[in-house]
Amino acid sequence: MQLTITNLSKSYSNGVKALDNVSLAIPPGMFGLLGPNGAGKSTLMRILATLQEADSGSAMLGTIDVLKQREDVRKVLGYLPQEFGVYPRVSAYQMLDHIALLKGVIDDGERKALVDALLQKVNLWEHRKRRIAGFSGGMKQRFGIAQSLIGDPKLVIVDEPTAGLDPGERNRFYNLLTEIGEHVVVILSTHIVQDVQELCSNMAIINKGRVLFAGSPHDALAEVKGRIWERRIEKGELDACRSAHRVISDKLIAGRPVVHVLSDSPLEAFVPVPPTLEDVFFSHISGSDRVTNP
Ligand code: ADP
Repeated sequence: MQLTITNLSKSYSNGVKALDNVSLAIPPGMFGLLGPNGAGKSTLMRILATLQEADSGSAMLGTIDVLKQREDVRKVLGYLPQEFGVYPRVSAYQMLDHIALLKGVIDDGERKALVDALLQKVNLWEHRKRRIAGFSGGMKQRFGIAQSLIGDPKLVIVDEPTAGLDPGERNRFYNLLTEIGEHVVVILSTHIVQDVQELCSNMAIINKGRVLFAGSPHDALAEVKGRIWERRIEKGELDACRSAHRVISDKLIAGRPVVHVLSDSPLEAFVPVPPTLEDVFFSHISGSDRVTNP
């Protein structure tokens, strides 16, 4: 089942245009939606999860009209929001059992088998009797995935899932998502480039409500191949460097700025470096900022 989003737009009452004619074709597998804070990712995720209305445009999941057939979408949707808000003081087992009942798994035996299987899948079986409120960030995220998988979803939406996870927890979470992404459309919304680099076969970069790039990470890297130049400078040189070149990023490494510049031709004192997805991301973001804030 493919998700096809066409010319989707959404403005808030304060005049912010959170989505501006967004079109994307999302096949089964892991799809990374990458953008800085405020880009419009959550707005798009909430519209697809039927929690918010769009102003115009369409979104089709196979033959289901996502904007109109909300009940049908909810039956095939798994949603892991950025924050659950309050974590209940009941055990992981009780909570999953409760959600499964709400989602219509009425048969006791069937529900027990489902909850047992989910707890094992997300590696929380041994913690099933513990209160969710006492879980670590990674355990909460894995619990979130377990609840999102009840009902055998065809579309799984995961909003900023790795914020606050330590590297070990993040890896376990990545493995779990990859396993799910073999069969269904999984949209992973994130501002963390590494999430997309490690997980996604397709991706889009959005900023200020607009799609700046859509394609595979491989295509994204090919776009800037041979055009990223690096130089280690002194702190005081940063402004001059910015006015002379198209600086896409600067990072302090051992206390000194290392700048990356996008350029089609060689630059004196700069060395060429193989591009990373982070370079692609920053080259698009800095490009779109240039257009709107020259
Ligand atoms: P992201 O998830 O990429 O951080 P959001 O979709 O949350 O982006 O926000 C996109 C833009 O819309 C931002 O400028 C944000 O401030 C604005 N925005 C989000 N929600 C609301 C709201 N309920 N009312 C007004 N503006 C909002």
